[in-house]
Amino acid sequence: MARVLLEHVTKRYPNGFEAVKDLNLEIRDGEFLVLVGPSGCGKTTTLRMIAGLEEITKGNLYIGERLVNDVPPKDRDIAMVFQNYALYPHMSVFDNMAFGLKMRRYPKEEIRRRVQETARMLGIEDLLDRRPAALSGGQRQRVALGRAIVREPQVFLMDEPLSNLDAKLRVLMRAELKKLHERLGVTTVYVTHDQTEAMTLGDRIAVMHRGVLQQVGTPDEVYRDPVNMFVAGFIGSPPMNFLRGVVAWEGDRAVFRHGGRDLVLPEEVGARLRASGASFPREAYLGVRPQDVRLEGPETLRIDGKVNIVEDAGAEKYVYAELPTGEEFVARLFVGAVPKAEERISLYPDPQRLHLFDAETELSLF
Ligand code: ATP
Repeated sequence: MARVLLEHVTKRYPNGFEAVKDLNLEIRDGEFLVLVGPSGCGKTTTLRMIAGLEEITKGNLYIGERLVNDVPPKDRDIAMVFQNYALYPHMSVFDNMAFGLKMRRYPKEEIRRRVQETARMLGIEDLLDRRPAALSGGQRQRVALGRAIVREPQVFLMDEPLSNLDAKLRVLMRAELKKLHERLGVTTVYVTHDQTEAMTLGDRIAVMHRGVLQQVGTPDEVYRDPVNMFVAGFIGSPPMNFLRGVVAWEGDRAVFRHGGRDLVLPEEVGARLRASGASFPREAYLGVRPQDVRLEGPETLRIDGKVNIVEDAGAEKYVYAELPTGEEFVARLFVGAVPKAEERISLYPDPQRLHLFDAETELSLF
């Protein structure tokens, strides 16, 4: 096992494009870290640099205590799992799993023992004689995982390994991967664009955007305290609502001026704004997650609107309302009596769960 440390790592491709910019990130020994972000944010490039498949333009990369910038992939003691499995079609499951060990000239008995143990752990011991063509997608994915596990590497690198599976199987395999990690305890770096997958799998998640690391933390930390509007909007579904207005002091109370009204911010928010040292009034966005909205609450935080659409998802309903400012606002409600389309509605954000972002820098104001 080992930690992975990236210090000021930059990747510039030959065409001049900077896919990863000054990345500082430590993946702790035994940790399951998920790199997440939209398509093109640089997560695959980062993983490929850790694997040694992509050269680092600037910075240092350590696996364990060893600087590996110039160490070839085969000597890095890592194992990769890709989304397309990359199994050898002409080989049996056994030979696919044994391949890496054979190449490294492990004794035959040791190979047999490791493959059989791993196959049992993954529930594929009955498939060892089959060819990949005779397997389901989920079984193939298990073989690909098995091939990485038998190597007993210091680090697993996984690039969207579940994205070719159907939704149901993906959820199942996610749970299995999590259990497997708990059992093996191998440092794992996992790439996905799917925030739900990131939130359910990661001990910590690292959110990237346009080649820049935005925030690292436990799923809960990133969800509760997003550092900026990008992270706030990317993590959580449906995405956080943002209302544009002005934060100002009204006597000793902090208010959010929006659409000609003052929403009174809770005292605790005021205290945090004061402690931040920022000057007010200031253009800002109020952030409210759809699940942090109720149909009743303090008048000082009332938001009026008109219902556009109600989406019924069984136990929960998504109410899409239009505010007098023209902004759209989504509420996720669990109550029986939900408003209907065209009705006027008053929504009340949970005062404990408000977010405020500077309109210019888009950074959290507290
Ligand atoms: P996806 O989820 O779509 O795979 P990603 O976050 O993994 O996205 P990367 O594959 O790391 O993104 O790519 C990051 C950026 O670098 C993209 O804009 C991509 O077009 C660019 N890029 C990738 N490979 C090269 C290359 N060989 N030459 C130039 N640009 C590249």
